[in-house]
Amino acid sequence: MTSDKSALTRQVGGFRVTAIQDGQMTGSVALMPDFDDAQAQAYCDRVGVPFSKVRETSVNCFVIEGQGRTMLVDTGSPPDFHKDAGRFPEAFAAAGFKPEDIDILILTHLHVDHWGNMLRREDGEAFFPRAEFVVTQSDYDFIHDESVYAGLNDARKVAHDRSRACCVPYAGRTRLIADDGDIVPGISYVTMPGHSPGHSGVLIQSAGTVLFIFADLAHAWFWQAPFPDWSVLYDLDQKQAARSRRATLARIVAEGWPCAGMHTPFPGWARVEQDGDVWRILPDF
Ligand SMILES: [Zn+2]
Repeated sequence: MTSDKSALTRQVGGFRVTAIQDGQMTGSVALMPDFDDAQAQAYCDRVGVPFSKVRETSVNCFVIEGQGRTMLVDTGSPPDFHKDAGRFPEAFAAAGFKPEDIDILILTHLHVDHWGNMLRREDGEAFFPRAEFVVTQSDYDFIHDESVYAGLNDARKVAHDRSRACCVPYAGRTRLIADDGDIVPGISYVTMPGHSPGHSGVLIQSAGTVLFIFADLAHAWFWQAPFPDWSVLYDLDQKQAARSRRATLARIVAEGWPCAGMHTPFPGWARVEQDGDVWRILPDF
């Protein structure tokens, strides 16, 4: 983690965005079934990076302050997710925030390393006592669909049960948003289905400046821009995830959007460059 506090914040017009780190995990490329050693090695040789199958993954969340509101995009992971993650509550407090500060809780999708701190660990109540909970209609419907649920294996049923449980204390203050819908003026979802049915980035626009939080568009950020068809096992629909990845990376470059990712190196700021007919993601801090 960087010690320079200014590196943790970005001003986007009237919005201030602060990165919060939930975890720093070591994994492998095995989560990409299509990973190809020879292609990967050739790519590393070309861009001058040592080839490694070890994958360092950060888990990032972002607080957005502006328009008299404090918003939070994603909440990190629960304590049983990984030994080097689940630190959101401490990191959030260390950044100077309290749960009651959050007016709007925005989720990019209903996966464990994103909803992981919606509930208080001590009593299972809402971690954010005042927050309106915002999520896409399509992710919410998928998690709550009984016919989907009936077709899941036991492990997936447990995951759905936990996703559902996170929504319960927020009933009555939940707002479901359509694909590409506006969250507040200047902040909208950008739908990128495949990773989950409603998986969405969060686009912040203010006074001519932009930040695009691209969520899990590139879960393995180093590999999935040059090899956008290498989906991860966590992509519910791996082919659709690849199509969304290609379309969104192309749009990011065409629009010139500065980015932030949930799994890019902390504090998560990143830029996307065209590289022939594919792309590269470069940490930008
Ligand atoms: Zn994730």
